[in-house]
Amino acid sequence: MFKKLDAPLLSKLASIVGEDNLLTDPEALEPYSHDEVAELRHPPEAVARAASSDEVARILSLAQSEGFPVTPRGAGQGLSGGAVPVYGGLVLSLERMNRVLEIDGENLMVTAEPGVITGNLHREVEEQGLFYPPDPASLDSCTIGGNIAENAGGPRAIKYGVTKDYVCGLEAVLPAGQVVQMGGKVVKNVTGYNLIQLLVGSEGTLGVVTKVVLRLLPKPQERVDLLVPFDSFEAAGRAVSEIIRARIVPVALEFMERDSLLAVEKLRDKEVPFREAAAHLLITLDGNDKARIDADYERIGEICLEHGALDVLVADTPQVRDRLWEARKLIIEALQHLSPQHIMDTQDVVVPRSKLPELLPRIKEVGKKTGLHIISFGHAGDGNVHVNVIKDVDEELWTAKRDQAAEEIYRLAVGMGGMVTGEHGIGLTRREFLGLGVDAHQIALMRRIKEDFDPAGILNPGKIFA
Ligand SMILES: Cc1cc2nc3c(=O)[nH]c(=O)nc-3n(C[C@H](O)[C@H](O)[C@H](O)COP(=O)(O)OP(=O)(O)OC[C@H]3O[C@@H](n4cnc5c(N)ncnc54)[C@H](O)[C@@H]3O)c2cc1C
Repeated sequence: MFKKLDAPLLSKLASIVGEDNLLTDPEALEPYSHDEVAELRHPPEAVARAASSDEVARILSLAQSEGFPVTPRGAGQGLSGGAVPVYGGLVLSLERMNRVLEIDGENLMVTAEPGVITGNLHREVEEQGLFYPPDPASLDSCTIGGNIAENAGGPRAIKYGVTKDYVCGLEAVLPAGQVVQMGGKVVKNVTGYNLIQLLVGSEGTLGVVTKVVLRLLPKPQERVDLLVPFDSFEAAGRAVSEIIRARIVPVALEFMERDSLLAVEKLRDKEVPFREAAAHLLITLDGNDKARIDADYERIGEICLEHGALDVLVADTPQVRDRLWEARKLIIEALQHLSPQHIMDTQDVVVPRSKLPELLPRIKEVGKKTGLHIISFGHAGDGNVHVNVIKDVDEELWTAKRDQAAEEIYRLAVGMGGMVTGEHGIGLTRREFLGLGVDAHQIALMRRIKEDFDPAGILNPGKIFA
């Protein structure tokens, strides 16, 4: 169906990116054959590491005229197989386009190339007293381009929103090679359809992002973090609903089931506080008014204790806070280590926040029913739960029950007014389940948009649609 990358094509690609930036050796291709989804691997025929939008445009024009597939790639930290080149062809890596181009303190905007590591962008703007809130837990290894393609969220989403809320301008190369400039350093823009937001979250299927203009905020001066253990995770879920009902908006309101923290303990070989508690909430408050933050955290503490919290630990120094968050950020890796082959299936469902106390025990029931080991954690304040099905059972049970468990969990969430994925995208691993969250008319409309952007179907084929 697609043209193979033969010697003449490879030579044309090398003339665009330079010999050194065209990889064809199988060993060099291996890291580009997967993202962070275990068990999902497909090697590309070549990798081109582009250095400019002009190179990206020339590559896509060539792909369109010759008919070979191109899979854009940031850092390969995705959790839905989006960067996996399922049809082979070319992986177009943006890793060399990794400069923060300008921090504009007058307009509160940062302009950057797509391959900038998100955590580096955070640090650069924070040095100037500014703040870019979206903070996926993978921030020290993923890229801004990948965040835009996935519309990444993170713990701070409850107060500050997700990536889409900060994108004011984009430069993107469309599948036929046209370079388009959308928006700019403007905080308001209603000039025609909102194509920027169409590209945000399009999972590398509509265009390749080559430059971004992101809105910044002044960095909040004060911050407090709380760790709150509970003896049942239903109680933790009820406390989350009550905090939200109390009109307090924390920066982060994270939920961690006991087994997720015990997995971190095992990985780090360091005991976690209240290790016997069934669940923990990790809560952050920030702002510039210390008295307001103190009042809010005291009220949160009271609510948690009224709902069965075992204690409320306050982390008011950067050292204690970093220790708490380090554990939270290690959960995915730690859970993978519970499986002898480091394999787990992660669902990323989202429900209206008030449904969380109902959802969590129902997920546990799916585990009991299927005989699979399911451990949940996630962004409770957003109703976004990461449900991890650990492969620590025999192959037969895993193969027989894994998809059943996934489907039941998706249906549970959708039945509560939720969605199939809140952060990680449809990609390859959830494309069979797209129809659970959106109806046939919407899927048809999405397909027509894809065909219009990419009539030759060369950009990231095999993703989103089954
Ligand atoms: C430990 C861990 C924690 C995580 N925590 C979070 C979290 O808290 N929140 C969250 O939202 N996600 C999280 N993720 C998922 C992941 O980090 C995000 O999806 C992230 O945005 C991926 O960025 P990347 O650069 O690695 O993209 P890749 O994995 O390289 O690519 C992801 C998708 O984006 C496309 N793409 C990449 N760059 C471009 C570009 N420049 N133009 C067009 N398309 C492009 C690819 O084709 C692919 O479809 C986590 C992952 C891990 C492993």
